[in-house]
Amino acid sequence: MIETDVLVIGSGPSGSTAAKHAALGGVDVILIDKKSEIGSPKRCAEGVSKKGLTKLGIEPDSRWITKEIDGVRLTSPNGTDVWLTEDEIELPEAGYILERKVFDKYMAMEAARAGAKIKIKTLATGLEKIDGGFIVSTESMGKKEDIKAKIVIAADGPEGHVVRWAGLKPTTKAKEMESGIQYEMVGLDFEKENVIEFYFGSCAPGGYAWIFPKGDDIANVGLAVLQSIADKPAIEYLDEFIKNCPATKNAQPVELNVGGDPVGGMPKKLYDDNLMLCGDAAGQVNPLTGGGIISGMTGGMYAGQVSAKAIKNGDCSKKSLKEYDKLVRDDLSKDIDRYKKVQEYMLTLNDSELDDIAEAFQNINFEKISTSELVKSLVKVSPKALIKLGKLI
Ligand SMILES: Cc1cc2nc3c(=O)[nH]c(=O)nc-3n(C[C@H](O)[C@H](O)[C@H](O)COP(=O)(O)OP(=O)(O)OC[C@H]3O[C@@H](n4cnc5c(N)ncnc54)[C@H](O)[C@@H]3O)c2cc1C
Repeated sequence: MIETDVLVIGSGPSGSTAAKHAALGGVDVILIDKKSEIGSPKRCAEGVSKKGLTKLGIEPDSRWITKEIDGVRLTSPNGTDVWLTEDEIELPEAGYILERKVFDKYMAMEAARAGAKIKIKTLATGLEKIDGGFIVSTESMGKKEDIKAKIVIAADGPEGHVVRWAGLKPTTKAKEMESGIQYEMVGLDFEKENVIEFYFGSCAPGGYAWIFPKGDDIANVGLAVLQSIADKPAIEYLDEFIKNCPATKNAQPVELNVGGDPVGGMPKKLYDDNLMLCGDAAGQVNPLTGGGIISGMTGGMYAGQVSAKAIKNGDCSKKSLKEYDKLVRDDLSKDIDRYKKVQEYMLTLNDSELDDIAEAFQNINFEKISTSELVKSLVKVSPKALIKLGKLI
């Protein structure tokens, strides 16, 4: 049996960040992932905010940035466009489009450079609570092996098996799991360069469709729907969107990505004795956009730091790990709650209301607009916004 201080399950952006910060704290760390190539296949449109990377102390690197974004297009069901530049409005997940296959590997390398040991193609298959930690059973290329850890950090993504094995409630209810589907496509015809595009309404019930450019004629083209209100599979909405959208109708797919996106917010319990959850496994996702790279890495950073401190203090009980809960909620909860309210409001809008809003917003002269000014403008055309979003003014 292998023994370690901290075992991180899942080497997505959240898990690698957790492993890096635990290792920087001077404790023994093992990071495992079931994939044979970290970061591949991606399940992501690959947008991150510049501010988010800066906050995490990560220098942008041309090896994993495919495009720098300087604007946003918001399109209503009848095709009314609102074009905004990054000077006018700060939107989450708008800044850079990554190459996740390179970015995720780079983040795992950063964890290794900090001292973490990495085991790829290693699937965690179960968890047993013992005095002073857990024994995690794993399987790697037909070989079974147990890993004994004082602390387990579950960063195993939206499926979140570890949470269940540990006897905690699943993070996201089925009705709050968006179904995401996306093609990476070539042969697109963009109206403007370096702009990410969002399409709202019945083209993607409960979510939205997006075009995130990665090259002169390359983009991630996808959508997410809430299965509880969609009346057909997400792929059918996507194929219809691609056929009807002028930018994509002549484009060809080179990759298909499918994945769930937990948009229900963080659960009540993010930690227990010898255990912390981070990233998608902990619902650390923007409920409006479905973006979870930066927020998951933020959770990973705190989980890693708190794990190292707990090991050094010789106390890995839930009382000691409670600090993680405080740090991560102080940092993320305000935004998650705010975007949850906007998502709930968006769910009440039908296509014609979305068209009215887009038309009204075309006549507004945006300079640097704050959330409060945005909501005030919204209330003028959609009075019910006051009920859902009034507190944001
Ligand atoms: C279609 C789609 C588009 C998206 N677009 C964006 C976007 O543009 N911007 C953004 O910020 N977010 C986006 N997201 C969300 C984003 O991809 C996730 O929030 C992010 O990947 C979460 O990182 P993570 O490290 O928590 O989990 P993941 O990236 O899912 O990593 C989890 C890792 O755990 C491993 N694993 C799972 N189970 C086990 C096990 N039992 N044993 C060993 N390893 C295991 C997996 O192999 C995986 O590598 C999108 C999501 C979807 C579905």
